[in-house]
Amino acid sequence: MLLSSLVAQASPLSEQQVQQLQGLVSQLNPIQQAWVSGYLAASAQLAGQVAGQAAPAVATASAGLTILFGSQTGNARHVAEALAKQAQGKGITAKVLDMAEYKTSQLKNEQYLVIVTSTYGEGEPPENAIGLHNFLFSKKAPKLTGLKYAVLGLGDTSYEFFCKTAQDFDQRLAELGATSVQARADLDVDYQAQADSWSGEVIAKLEPELKATAAPSAQVIAWPGVDTAGSVSQYSKQNPFAAELYTNQKITGRDSTKDVRHIEISLAGSGLTYQPGDALGVYFSNDEALVRELLLLTAIARDTPVQLAGETLAIEQALTGQLELTQSYPAFVEKYAAATNNAALSELASDKAALRAYISERQIIDIVRDYPGLLSAQQLADALRKQQPRLYSIASSQAEVEDEVHLTVGVVRYDAYGQPHLGGASGFLAERLAEGDKVKVFVEQNNNFRLPANDDTPLIMIGPGTGIAPFRAFLQERDARGASGKNWLFFGNPHFTQDFLYQLELQNYLKRGLLTKLNVAFSRDQAAKVYVQDKLRQHGSEVWQWLEQGAHLYICGDANRMAKDVQQALIDIVQQYGGKTAEQAQAYLDELRVAKRYQKDVY
Ligand code: NAP
Repeated sequence: MLLSSLVAQASPLSEQQVQQLQGLVSQLNPIQQAWVSGYLAASAQLAGQVAGQAAPAVATASAGLTILFGSQTGNARHVAEALAKQAQGKGITAKVLDMAEYKTSQLKNEQYLVIVTSTYGEGEPPENAIGLHNFLFSKKAPKLTGLKYAVLGLGDTSYEFFCKTAQDFDQRLAELGATSVQARADLDVDYQAQADSWSGEVIAKLEPELKATAAPSAQVIAWPGVDTAGSVSQYSKQNPFAAELYTNQKITGRDSTKDVRHIEISLAGSGLTYQPGDALGVYFSNDEALVRELLLLTAIARDTPVQLAGETLAIEQALTGQLELTQSYPAFVEKYAAATNNAALSELASDKAALRAYISERQIIDIVRDYPGLLSAQQLADALRKQQPRLYSIASSQAEVEDEVHLTVGVVRYDAYGQPHLGGASGFLAERLAEGDKVKVFVEQNNNFRLPANDDTPLIMIGPGTGIAPFRAFLQERDARGASGKNWLFFGNPHFTQDFLYQLELQNYLKRGLLTKLNVAFSRDQAAKVYVQDKLRQHGSEVWQWLEQGAHLYICGDANRMAKDVQQALIDIVQQYGGKTAEQAQAYLDELRVAKRYQKDVY
């Protein structure tokens, strides 16, 4: 309808151009059309900036609804994209943008804004939201009296600072004079149904005004890199691909304290593609022995029917394939205590800090062992939350492994309260899945952890432990591309003889010159601990030189301690060798982040 009416509406295109455009569009599927639409919108905006002109109407942020997402694992992105599609269904033009791609100078032009954001660590914004968050809380933030907005938070109630970033945005937008059109929702891990209904309510409230100001044809405009239509493959988080496990190989030594597996999975026939930096989502089945024990402790017959999201199935089936049994969370304790009439557990649940400490060390089975009680099969199913797939950073490049995908999986395995414990997904991949069996997977793109487009750019990669995973992908990709840029890897793990992951590959890369430098920190091979940040400091002068030569800096691995300590080491290096104050060094790293030269994939 859009194209045929272009000529009639006296479009700026010649008749021949309209015909050419019509010819092209007729060959594109809806996914390709959505991508081209985003590409043209962004190109037009860039052209406007280059020429110093105002950007064309389609690219100005003030037209229609702007939806910004701050996302660490892709969940907020998916909710933002679904919201945009709902808006489109109502004839509203909606733009979906990664917060890292959003020009903060546009904010004052916005009329209708929805923010969907997760929270990370101890109440901090996710990586791609830091810039906008800082801007809004800075003196530069404009008055936003003309803005109508709504904020949706995604989080995990097991954490103290649940949905803190969403609360920050909500509170700050209000302080700047903007008007909230819908109360903020702070949603837990199983957010989907509530996110859909919240989105529907926001759209219903904004629809009359947005339609009054709408462009002739509603569309979802996605900036390049934002995929409103999902992967080109038919397989997605909602519709995962049953992929064959090719290889499950332990890559830590017999005497290692860690069990790390190199996993190879076939994507053949799926149409799924990925880029270095992306993650693989993995669904898993719970341990049958764990399910049997849980049913025994609660005296529930395994074939008792239960209702789950409108479907009837046996409780044993629900516990094995659909519900979360290894990660515990506050709502389980509250619901289980109420269903089993357990006063002691209810009292524990009423003290939030004590409850967080209690569940942080326990799986669901530990809680039921501690407080055995009777409840119905349906009460048990209702107390448990829906299983969420686990994301693993991909450790391969398709330029090298074609339709395979490789992972580096640290198996969660420990003894506690006199019993062995195994992680849900890592236990499934390492122990319960045989080579040749099927595992349900999907690709989760991560546009905030990407190789530089320019192959001459030097890379500094810091990835202790399983944090090595995406750097194996980066190195394979740079190798396949024949990229001339220098590559420097910092790796660390407890012992050289037991824990040097991918040792032969890395040493071979070093010999061939693909790896320009490799520095390793084997923390427990000497009396005093040595970590990757110690190696960074030792080579501080050269790290600074590489940064000044335009190097891109990447960190992957543990978020709680390592990433913070490495960041401090980088600040110290910039301060010492760049002759800057601590504030200037922090600002230097902030600039690198904004320029996408400093990227993190930390958990
Ligand atoms: P890890 O526990 O991070 O240990 C790796 C090395 O880092 C060890 O030598 C350890 O030394 C050292 N280390 C300890 N504290 C440190 C600090 N403050 N600064 C720098 N180094 C420090 O390795 P891992 O068991 O392989 O786990 C990696 C972490 O990253 C996990 O939290 C994991 O969830 C996450 N991760 C996940 C993925 C994924 O794909 N899902 C990818 C990457 C990372 P000592 O133990 O001797 O003190």
